[in-house]
Amino acid sequence: MNKKIIFKIIRKYSYFIWLIFLIFFTILVTYFYDINKKNQINYLNKFLKNIYLNNSLKKITSELKPRYINIEYKVKEGDTYENIINNLSIPNLEKKIFLNTVTKNKNINILKLNQKIFFRIDKKNNTKIVNFTIEINKKKNIFFERNDDDKIFISKIIEKNLLKTIVFKEGIIKNSLYNAALKLGIKPNTIVEFARLYGFQVDFQRDIWKNDSFQIIYEEFKNEDGSIIDTGNIIYANLNIQSTDLQLYKFEFENNKIDYFDENGKSVRKTLMKTPINGARLSSSFGKRKHPILGFTKMHTGTDFAAPKGTPIMSSGDGSVIKASWCGGGGNCVKIKHNSSYQTIYAHMSKFGRGIKKGVRIKQGQIIGYVGSTGLSTGPHLHYVVIENGKKINSQKLKLPSGKILKGDLRKKFEVKKIKIDVLKSELISKIN
Ligand SMILES: [Zn+2]
Repeated sequence: MNKKIIFKIIRKYSYFIWLIFLIFFTILVTYFYDINKKNQINYLNKFLKNIYLNNSLKKITSELKPRYINIEYKVKEGDTYENIINNLSIPNLEKKIFLNTVTKNKNINILKLNQKIFFRIDKKNNTKIVNFTIEINKKKNIFFERNDDDKIFISKIIEKNLLKTIVFKEGIIKNSLYNAALKLGIKPNTIVEFARLYGFQVDFQRDIWKNDSFQIIYEEFKNEDGSIIDTGNIIYANLNIQSTDLQLYKFEFENNKIDYFDENGKSVRKTLMKTPINGARLSSSFGKRKHPILGFTKMHTGTDFAAPKGTPIMSSGDGSVIKASWCGGGGNCVKIKHNSSYQTIYAHMSKFGRGIKKGVRIKQGQIIGYVGSTGLSTGPHLHYVVIENGKKINSQKLKLPSGKILKGDLRKKFEVKKIKIDVLKSELISKIN
């Protein structure tokens, strides 16, 4: 009876009992899942705190930092190798080895402004220089690599990879050839060379008029990143003065001997140039005049060219320097002996050209100094003197034998070369248009 009642009640509430059981089961499962999860997290934490793992992680991340670093340094004013190397965080012994190496090398013992130095440094264990490169000039680098015994560097000279391009430019002269050419992006070296080529036949102060024009084909050397590293030869030049073309063609008339000839195969080169300076204004000619400083009338035994301070002065002919020093009223002056009959003097210079000193042989058009106002002078100008057989003469009236004329086979070769250059010119012009 009792059993029956209990069974009845159970049956009556069976759904309810099942529900309670399910709830209990769910709680139990969730509880164990939770405990398990906590254990897992604990285990993971323990794993991460493990010293061995930490060390290997450190190793992995440290290897992500580059082992080698490359440093590019550009030399600033007043820099020495010592202060450059002291800026790097490398051991003192490394600095010492570097300084020993560079001071012993004659190619690089003098630092130049904007010169580039590249270092490759190994940061592993003891930081050390693996190799370094120093620019010698625009075309050459010197590369130093560590030797096996680790204490010295072995050097080798590396030629930079330069790409030659042929450039055509033309322009109209509004104020000066120099400005017009510069505006076209022609490098000063090429402009000076252009002026030098015409220096025998053209007086840049008096012969050039506004709206005269010029054309030029020349070589340019670019490095891998496309920047112009150097200028090469002028291949063709034309100066159109008052509707007259003065054309010049580059021609190799002997092995490695280059000269410029007009369309009739005549060289324009003369023993001396009329104007040893480019872009200058003739300010006082040869003859009697009142001296601007001394006040009295005196024979002016030279020609004055007014030009901004620093304008390059060229040697008007091949020869050797017989004086490059102070000469009193003439300030810093250079005297050149060209041959047994001709000598030239250049006075009032602000400074001498690189390497210009007594006894040095020089080429026509080579820069011997820069315009200044040293000595007895009222402003920056070049006082230019030509001496013929010991007598000072008027440089602007100088009559010199004209250059050689190509004949025979050489003339035939020149005619072929001339046609090639003319074709090149029209090709380059068509590329522009
Ligand atoms: Zn003078």
